[in-house]
Amino acid sequence: MSVVDVSAGGMSGHTGRYEKRLADLTGLYEDGEEHARLVGALGNPIVYDVEDFRPGDKSGDLIYGVTRMSPGRVGREFFLTRGHIHAKADRPEIYYGQKGRGLMQLESPEGETRIIEIAPQTICYVPPFWIHRSINVGSEDLVMVFAYPSDSGQDYGIIEASNGMRHRIVARADGGWELTENPAYAPRSTKTVNSLMKQHA
Ligand code: MN
Repeated sequence: MSVVDVSAGGMSGHTGRYEKRLADLTGLYEDGEEHARLVGALGNPIVYDVEDFRPGDKSGDLIYGVTRMSPGRVGREFFLTRGHIHAKADRPEIYYGQKGRGLMQLESPEGETRIIEIAPQTICYVPPFWIHRSINVGSEDLVMVFAYPSDSGQDYGIIEASNGMRHRIVARADGGWELTENPAYAPRSTKTVNSLMKQHA
C-alpha cells in the first residue's frame, strides 16, 4: 500500500526514486541557447522527480508511482519529460492526475499526434505502441500517479532518431497553449514502423 503526497509529490512505500534536472533536458528545446542560459541562471533546478514501487520485472506485474513536475518555460515551450516509447512497445500505461494542469503528448509510430489534457481526477490511457511525453502547462506543480507493466522498459532513442516529436507545444499569449509543427521532424520509415508494430509478448 502507498499513500500519495498530493502537494509535494511522491508516495510512501516507494522502492525507488529518481530526478531529472534542466541540464538533463538538453537537446529537447527549439531554443537551445535559451535552455543553456536557464540551466546557469536557475542553477540547474530539478524539473521532475519520480518515486515508484517496483515489485519485480515480470510481465504480469505492475510498476506504479507518483511523478511531480515543476512549472516553468524555456522560451515559448514548457517544462516537459524526455518522452519515450516502451522498449516492449506493446505495453500500455495509465496516468491519473492529482494536482496541476498538464498534457500527455502522444505520437503513434506513423506520426499521428494526440493530446490528452490532464487535471486532478483525470485518467489518461497511453495505448500500446504510442510514444508519450508529459508537459506542465500550468502555474503549479503537476502531480500524477502512473502504472505500467513491469517489463515495459523505456526507449528514449526513438524521439532523438526523428529529431524530436512531430509537434511542439508552445505557450500562447493568453496563457493557453497550442501545437506547432517541428520543422526538423523526420518521419519513421515503413520498415521501422513495421518492426515496432511486430513487437508483442
Ligand atoms: Mn511510459
